[in-house]
Amino acid sequence: MSQVQRITVLGATGSIGLSTLDVIACHPDRYQVFALTGYSRLEELLALCLRHRPAYAVVPDARSASRLRDGLVAAGCDCEVLEGEAGLCQVACASEVDAVMAAIVGAAGLRPTLAAVRAGKKVLLANKEALVMSGALFMQAVRDSGAVLLPIDSEHNAIFQCLPGDYSRGLAQVGVRRILLTASGGPFRDTSAAALMDVTPEQACAHPNWSMGRKISVDSASMMNKGLELIEACWLFDAAPSIVEVVVHPQSVIHSLVDYVDGSVLAQLGNPDMRTPIANALAWPQRIDSGVAPLDLFAIARLDFQTPDEQRFPCLRLARAAAEAGNSAPAVLNAANEVAVEAFLQGRIRFPEIASMIEQVLEQEPVVALASLEAVFAADQRAREHAQAWLRRHGR
Ligand code: NAD
Ligand code: MG
Repeated sequence: MSQVQRITVLGATGSIGLSTLDVIACHPDRYQVFALTGYSRLEELLALCLRHRPAYAVVPDARSASRLRDGLVAAGCDCEVLEGEAGLCQVACASEVDAVMAAIVGAAGLRPTLAAVRAGKKVLLANKEALVMSGALFMQAVRDSGAVLLPIDSEHNAIFQCLPGDYSRGLAQVGVRRILLTASGGPFRDTSAAALMDVTPEQACAHPNWSMGRKISVDSASMMNKGLELIEACWLFDAAPSIVEVVVHPQSVIHSLVDYVDGSVLAQLGNPDMRTPIANALAWPQRIDSGVAPLDLFAIARLDFQTPDEQRFPCLRLARAAAEAGNSAPAVLNAANEVAVEAFLQGRIRFPEIASMIEQVLEQEPVVALASLEAVFAADQRAREHAQAWLRRHGR
């Protein structure tokens, strides 16, 4: 048995963070928590620190740090509290760390995730926005450092499992013809275009198959999640956007498929529970129990497939165009989407306006090359400013 792996969980208080800690807790002989980070739910973070006993906890600022320290001291827990982005980067690249779960939501995760990559860690990537924003730089950093990048997104983890071990030789070289990215279709799969005008944030966040954070839930409802995943797949597997096809599959049992030139199509199936891809990546190339119930095919009985409707879900079309344009376009798409989702959650725009806002920002922003991380954040910032200006004109 190999030695115990020390894990940093970035975004420990979130949906993916908590599922990760669930899997880790089932295998104390294999995994030990090195650091936990949280942003707003300090009470939850304190409880997680008391349960998992990390060496470090990271919070956004001095005020939260002093509150968390007080709680830790009162409970007799010996855990050092760090602050801000510097703290996140420190626990992502510390020499004691073997693997980093990158589960912060949105652009806020880019610097710490990249710090883990640059330090050559085993990086379990849930934070798809980081890769979408900075794909070329991110993948170059993976190659330069020798980091092991393992996808946590269920679709990409499925594709990873369906590819041969030497797929980095090139997808054509290993006989791959297409990647079939499955999508549940979200809570509004069968909602008419007219009815989409009046859907609420609560309806958008009530996903039929998966329980997730609010931002990714809205992304799933708009199908921007699938758009971001298309871009993510292109970077992870060095695939041209034209070979990645989106397939709506309402049951969310097939997590994605790989189509080979000989006509073989390999799929990965499982119950829709993120502990499966998390356990897969944590233990890779071994397998461990994730706590997920065995798949009951008789209870599922049937698997359905539909083509996505880009009229009702224009975010998919916008993301594909951004993937094809490359350079700064995905970063602009992502930033505009983050502003739009927040505005929708706050009741400032209607659901279909998420796509309208993103489309306008993409039209206004020139596509430029992104040669540095500074350039990535500059493109992100400009797109956010454009999106905020759009909100001032059109929002409530
Ligand atoms: P969540 O909202 O439940 O959790 C987000 C985590 O990030 C929390 O721990 C929060 O404290 C932290 N965070 C938020 N803003 C931060 C900031 N500015 N600085 C530092 N930390 C911050 O989100 P989630 O559903 O767990 O998703 C996390 C990531 O994983 C997202 O990128 C999402 O797209 C991806 N993902 C999630 C799922 C899922 O099933 N939930 C599936 C696939 C991919
Ligand atoms: Mg996914």
